[in-house]
Amino acid sequence: MEIKRVNDSFSVSGQLTLADLPALQTAGVKTLIGNRPDGEVAGQPAHAELAAAAAAHGMAVYYLPVVHDTINSVDVEQFAALLASSNGAVHAWCRSGLRSVTLWSLAQVKQGADPAALAAQASALGFDFTSFATRFAGVMAELRDVFATAPLRAHCPLLIVGGGAGGISVAASLLRRQPGLAITIVEPAEQHYYQPGFTMIGGGTFTDRQVVRPMASVIPKGVQWIKAAVVHFLPQRNQVVLTSGECLSYERLIVSAGLKLNWGAVEGLQETLGRNGVTSNYQPGLARYTWELVQGLRKGRAVFTQPPMPIKCAGAPQKALYLSGSHWLRSGCLGDIDIDFYNAGAVLFGVGAYVPALQRYIERYRANLHFGHNLVKVDGPNRLATFAYTDAAGAIARTEVRFDMLHVCPPQCAPDFLRNSPLADRAGWMDVDQHSLRHKRYANIWGLGDCTNTPNAKTAAAVRKQVPVVADNLSADLRQRTGSSRYDGYGSCPLTVEHGRIVLAEFLYGGKVAPTFPTWLLEGSRPSWLAWAMKCYLLPWVYWHLMLKGNETLTAPEA
Ligand code: FAD
Repeated sequence: MEIKRVNDSFSVSGQLTLADLPALQTAGVKTLIGNRPDGEVAGQPAHAELAAAAAAHGMAVYYLPVVHDTINSVDVEQFAALLASSNGAVHAWCRSGLRSVTLWSLAQVKQGADPAALAAQASALGFDFTSFATRFAGVMAELRDVFATAPLRAHCPLLIVGGGAGGISVAASLLRRQPGLAITIVEPAEQHYYQPGFTMIGGGTFTDRQVVRPMASVIPKGVQWIKAAVVHFLPQRNQVVLTSGECLSYERLIVSAGLKLNWGAVEGLQETLGRNGVTSNYQPGLARYTWELVQGLRKGRAVFTQPPMPIKCAGAPQKALYLSGSHWLRSGCLGDIDIDFYNAGAVLFGVGAYVPALQRYIERYRANLHFGHNLVKVDGPNRLATFAYTDAAGAIARTEVRFDMLHVCPPQCAPDFLRNSPLADRAGWMDVDQHSLRHKRYANIWGLGDCTNTPNAKTAAAVRKQVPVVADNLSADLRQRTGSSRYDGYGSCPLTVEHGRIVLAEFLYGGKVAPTFPTWLLEGSRPSWLAWAMKCYLLPWVYWHLMLKGNETLTAPEA
C-alpha cells in the first residue's frame, strides 16, 4: 500500500490492511478515516476488523463511507469535523485514495482555499482532478455559503420540483384533497411528454403528436409555474437554488425530477445519435427515426442494447426489438436480418413469471441474446458498436460488433443536481422511505418517480400508485398528523411482443406478481390483444385525463 502524503498532518492511500497499521503508527498517525464502503469488493477487510486492530496501535478509526460521484456537503462537513478533532496526523483511505483526497480538498475549500491550487496539488500526487471544479461546483458554493446572499425570489409554502408525470399528478391530487392549496411547480421544459408512447412511435403505431402537450396546458389550474431549473438543494435552510442564482424557500417540498439519460457515458454515442443507423426510443423526437430505420432495413444486422439497471421502463429496450422483429416478420424479410440483443444484465426480464412468454418471442424473431455485455463505444460512420464483458478468466474484455441498425438504451443515473445534494443516498438517488415516500432525514420533504431510491420498476405506472401516497401523507402532515399511506412497490411494464399483442407484467416490491384484472379477462404472462388495445387507447387517456387531473381510480394506497 502506497501512502501519499498531502501535507505534514494528512495522508491518503488505497485499501488499508492490518499489516499497514504499524507503519502508520510509526509515522505518528492518530486518526484513521475509512471512506470506502464495507463490502465494495469481495475479500475487502471490514471496517470493524481494522478498527479493533488499530485501537491496539493507539489509533482511532472512523467510518465515513462515500461514493466519489455523490460526495455532498454533509460528507465534507463530517470529514472536516474529524480532521479538526484529531490530536495528531490523520490518514484516510478508500480504493485508490481519490475519494479521501477529494473530501480533504473540499474541506479546504470550505476554509477559503483556491480549488485550482488544490486540484494542482492532488494532480501532482497522481490523482485525476481534471473535472474537480466543475463536478463539485454546487457543493463548493454550499460549503462557502455563497447562497447565503442569494436573492430570495419567492416563498412557496408547497414547492414541487419537476413537472413530469409525478410532479403534475401529485399537484392535481393534492388540489383534489384541498382545493385552493398554494402550490408552486419549478419546471424548465416547455413540453410535457407521455413517455410510454415513445415505444409505440418506434413501432410505427403512434405519431409524435400523440405523446406531447404544452407544459402550460397540463399544469393544474391555480398552481404557480416557475419556468426555471433547480441547481441545488439547501434542505437545512428549506431552500432550493435556481439557475438564475435566486432561491425559493419552502415549508414542504416534493421532488419528482426524473432521471438523467447519460448519453455521454458511451464514447461516440452523442455525435452519431440520429444518424448512421443509430437511434433510441428514449430520446424525444428520435423514436420516429427508429421506425424509419426499421422500415428501411431489408437485410443486415440489427443490434439492440440494454445498460446496467436501474433504468426507466426496464422492458423498453426489448420492446423496441420485438416491434422491429414483428415488422420484419410481417414484411417477409426477417430471414435476411440478424437480430442481436446485448444486455448488461444477466436475465431477459427481472420478474421470472414473464420470461417464458418473452423467450418464445426471442425464438420467433431468432434473436441472439448476449447477457453481461455493456455498450461502451459507438463508431457511427463505420457502424461499429463496442461492448465490454467479463471473460471466462474474470478479466474485462471488449468485443466489436458491426451493425446496420443500432437501437441504444442509454445508461441512466440520478440528475446531477440531486446526486451531489444532501437529499441523495450513496448511489445518488433521492433517499426516501420506500413505503411512506418521505425523505429519510428531512421530514418536510417527499419524493416520487424515477429520481428516488425505492426498489420498484421506474415506470409511469409506479408513479400513478405513488402519487396518492405522497398526497395522503403530505395532506396529513399539513393537519399536523402522521400519514399512514404506504406504497407497495407496484410497477407495470406492458411488453409489446408483437403488433397487436402485449405481455402485461405487473408486480410489487420483491417481484411479487400483482395483476390488476382477473385472469379470465387478462392473464399477464400470456400475450394479449386486450392489453394491446389498452396500451393504444385506454392508458394514454388515463394518463392525460385521469392521472394528470388528480383522479385516483384504482390507485387507492394501503394504509
Ligand atoms: P419525468 O416524467 O421524466 O419528469 C421529470 C421532470 O423533471 C421533467 O419534466 C424534467 O424537465 C424535470 N426536471 C429535470 N431537471 C429539473 C431541474 N433541475 N429542475 C426542475 N425540474 C427538472 N412507464 C410506464 O408506466 N409504462 C411504459 O410502457 C413506459 N414506457 C417507457 C418507454 C420509454 C422509451 C421511456 C423513456 C419511458 C417509459 N416509461 C414507461 C417510464 C415513464 O415514462 C417514467 O417512469 C415516468 O415518466 C417518470 O415520471 P417522473 O415524474 O419521475 O419523471
